[in-house]
Amino acid sequence: MRAAIQRRLADEVGTLGIDQPSMFCLAYPSPYTVGMSSLGFQTLYRILWAEGIGCHRAFLPDGWDRHALQWPPPPEPILSYEAMRPLSDYPLIGVSVAYELEIAGLIRMLHGAGIPLLASQRRARDPIIIAGGPLTDTNPASLLPFVDVLISGEAEALLPEAIRRLAAGVDRDDALTRIAGLPHSALGEIEPGRISPLPACASAPHELLPAYSAITTPHTELSDMFLIEPERGCSRRCTFCVMRGPSTGGMRILDAALPLGLIPEHAKRVGLVGAAVTDHPELEPMVAKIVESGRGVGVSSLRADRLTPELLDALSRGGYRQITVASDGISERLRSLLVRKIDAESLLRAAELVRDNGRLRGLKIYQMIGVPTETDADADELVAFIRELSRITRVTLGISTFVAKRNTPLDGQDFVGVSAAEARLAAIARGLRGAATMRPQSPKWAHVEWLLARHGAEGGHAALAATLAGGSYRAWVRAFAELGPPSRPWVYGDEAAQARRRGKAAGPRDRLTVIA
Ligand code: SF4
Repeated sequence: MRAAIQRRLADEVGTLGIDQPSMFCLAYPSPYTVGMSSLGFQTLYRILWAEGIGCHRAFLPDGWDRHALQWPPPPEPILSYEAMRPLSDYPLIGVSVAYELEIAGLIRMLHGAGIPLLASQRRARDPIIIAGGPLTDTNPASLLPFVDVLISGEAEALLPEAIRRLAAGVDRDDALTRIAGLPHSALGEIEPGRISPLPACASAPHELLPAYSAITTPHTELSDMFLIEPERGCSRRCTFCVMRGPSTGGMRILDAALPLGLIPEHAKRVGLVGAAVTDHPELEPMVAKIVESGRGVGVSSLRADRLTPELLDALSRGGYRQITVASDGISERLRSLLVRKIDAESLLRAAELVRDNGRLRGLKIYQMIGVPTETDADADELVAFIRELSRITRVTLGISTFVAKRNTPLDGQDFVGVSAAEARLAAIARGLRGAATMRPQSPKWAHVEWLLARHGAEGGHAALAATLAGGSYRAWVRAFAELGPPSRPWVYGDEAAQARRRGKAAGPRDRLTVIA
């Protein structure tokens, strides 16, 4: 473990605070390669050093993110990178959780560090666990059993204040009392069965935007890429998406000069990250400037209907070989039901632009099966359409199974069923044989995600039972079968209430705020 950490540290550029003390460790419940690709994780690390608080990092050991893993996990120390100190030595630990299935990683990490798994089991000398991350936007209740303090929403401004308050406590109980009154926060389940009302989601103040990385490293999928967020949120209203405008408080667009001015000299590649980066009005000149400076470039979310020959030219000069877009609905009818606002014509044009570019080798399209009301006719339309696209350029299909997420208009919809989803995938694969490459995601784990998404704190306890039973799909299904009907906190599935949680009025129109 020590040797692996030292190797990774030697390859990092921008590491802060090596050998400087800190009482706070930011822990990621997935391995290093995933955690260091998280812009939110990197941004908090950078802000906490800038605030003079300091922040060490720890990660789930490699391989512990497998869905099924023996319990207890193989013995391996969990050490911080900056100080090689055991995670359990830190009085304050932050965890950033991206989505439901990372809860298993959180449980394994706490166990590996020797920290009591449940907040209600922790005693005076145990660390205080503060949770945040994207999951707190949608399903924070499932984290409550494991955390002492929850910060809901965008934590850039709140985490430093939470740490200062907790650090001022004379003991654990006093520290937790000091969190009372901190906006957008709540205590976890520190007494069995005591579930705090869920706090409103925070929006980061404009002056703390954009988020950008502190560290570049070759040991991530986005190897050596400096990440920066030229916009936050999305103004669109796709009915299945947790990032839709009313949930995120609308789209906050930064003047292009701001992110461009923050790119460090050493960055060899730059990733423009955000839910709707292609809706940024200055995307094309931004990408062109990055490429002209001799750097590689990446864009996190390309919309088929926003592609232009000039943008694809710049992207391909910046290292792109395959363009990835999402269609989600597998037919025009389902795209319309999902309010996806991408039509067949845009996708055909995207394929033609890829073909005409010369340097690009293909188009990857994300699709989603199992959407409510889907029929065989929708799947037949997909097969015929992808065959048509594949006559234009090479096509790869990424296919997931629809999971009804909280705080979306489709919240509460049933899961299609694992067998039905597998049969649908098999039929599509037969129909596309020889025409396109398919990269399907497992319907079983989509089912587990759906089970977690429809439950609150009791879903967290079921996740614990499933993880202790080895984390197989069967273990998850068995653990959730023990639960009664799902509890539904008042905010969920109600857009106006969700907007109020962010302190915004729910307007009928998309919100666009331009920050100069
Ligand atoms: S799917 Fe994309 S375009 Fe639609 S609301 Fe979500 S982030 Fe926005």
